[in-house]
Amino acid sequence: MPPREACGVVGVSLQGRGAAPYLFRGLRALQHRGQESAGIATTSHGTLFHRKGMGLVHEIFSQELLDTLRGTVGIGHVRYSTTGSSDLENAQPIVVKVHDADAAIAHNGDIVNFDRIRRRLQAQGVELLGNADTETMAQTIVLEYGRTRDLEAAIRRACTEIVGGYAVVFLVGNRVYAFRDPMGIRPLVFGTVEGGVAVASESVALDLMGGKVVRDVAPGELLVLEKGQLLRTSTIPNSGERAHCMFEWVYFSRPDSMVETQPVYDVRYRIGQRLAKESPAEADLVVPVPDSARPQALGFAEGSGIPYAEALIKNRFVERTFILPDQHRRESEVRVKLHPVPGLLKGRRVVLLDDSIVRGTTLREIVQMVRGAGAVRVDVRIGCPPIRAPCYFGIDMKERKELVAFGREEDEIARVVGADSVRYISLDGLITSIGLPGEDLCLGCLTGQYPVEVPEERHRFQKTLAEF
Ligand code: 5GP
Ligand code: MG
Repeated sequence: MPPREACGVVGVSLQGRGAAPYLFRGLRALQHRGQESAGIATTSHGTLFHRKGMGLVHEIFSQELLDTLRGTVGIGHVRYSTTGSSDLENAQPIVVKVHDADAAIAHNGDIVNFDRIRRRLQAQGVELLGNADTETMAQTIVLEYGRTRDLEAAIRRACTEIVGGYAVVFLVGNRVYAFRDPMGIRPLVFGTVEGGVAVASESVALDLMGGKVVRDVAPGELLVLEKGQLLRTSTIPNSGERAHCMFEWVYFSRPDSMVETQPVYDVRYRIGQRLAKESPAEADLVVPVPDSARPQALGFAEGSGIPYAEALIKNRFVERTFILPDQHRRESEVRVKLHPVPGLLKGRRVVLLDDSIVRGTTLREIVQMVRGAGAVRVDVRIGCPPIRAPCYFGIDMKERKELVAFGREEDEIARVVGADSVRYISLDGLITSIGLPGEDLCLGCLTGQYPVEVPEERHRFQKTLAEF
């Protein structure tokens, strides 16, 4: 089982100034996309400088360390932890040889035909060191490059072999090659910064590098950044169909980012307003599960006229509980992470807003906590339709049987999480709130209909995570 990643990437090309401080700021802005490890690679006059480590960006990169990462061009990555693969080897960027030169690559996403691609590479005598998607992708490109000696053609060709959702930054010599999967499943934006150009998983990284977004990288677009400029762009052959991951708006991206020109905050606010219309509740207070459901709760409060209260306080120094490796730890950590404001909930009927339910573990704990603080009724409203199928394109939800909504309807889910009611936003409500046509979204985890065929999807259904 290869590591599965939902991470963040950044790349810059500058003139007359060092890339490392920009990459550092960009990565810090993307920290929410992955807290397990982070890395930066730069080049200067043909030499690659490269550092990665476990933990948060600012814990890994001191000023002294940044000073050793020389050059005006580089890439960076933050990695999201997934069960059982928590080690430095999986940290990115990874270093690869593009013939004689050292290069570095980092990516966000998943390759669905990973096994097939790997077997093909091995059959052609390519030695694979680790088992990561990233290396597989790099070696596929390198193999093509060996044939044509045209790196851009090699990337485009490799991308027709690789099936999946990905956003990639590839540092070769003094250039950054940045590209996005042909349907634009994973996000990537392009913009300008002082002294050059940059790409990043989210617009907020451009903002925090002191730059501004010019546009989203188009699905299947390959950008070449050189000497502080966008040198060229070309297109990976594609069907023209788009499938942007709806979960970026629902949960994954920061609310101060724009994804496909739609401000994430506004989308979440509209989700809340829409929920208030679709599934009203008689209540005294609207309470968000912080941080991710605040805009939704504000929208719900506005839509329903019920007062908003921050009755659950989050300890900001606790890591995201979702990514803790085992269920038991996840359960006890929820209580360390969230705590009710004494008195606020006592005797009140509460509408609890959350962005999404995956396994239901977090919510069950929270509902209990809210009742424990004296709430007399807890009605739960969820800003994402039921997640009933796995994601194969970069979000960490892998097995149907883990998903609380798999095979269960709302009333049964309410019983599982101990709420008086649970109501999800409708699919149409979500699509309308995002503001893009439904055909342009990947809704695979909601509908089980994936934008591309997932090999052996049926078969995977029967198996546990460890087996496939
Ligand atoms: P669960 O239902 O699995 O206990 O947790 C769901 C909650 O975790 C959601 O409300 C959401 O805030 C958060 N969440 C959902 N998906 C992800 C993910 O892929 N990564 C992380 N870190 N958190 C997630
Ligand atoms: Mg949450």
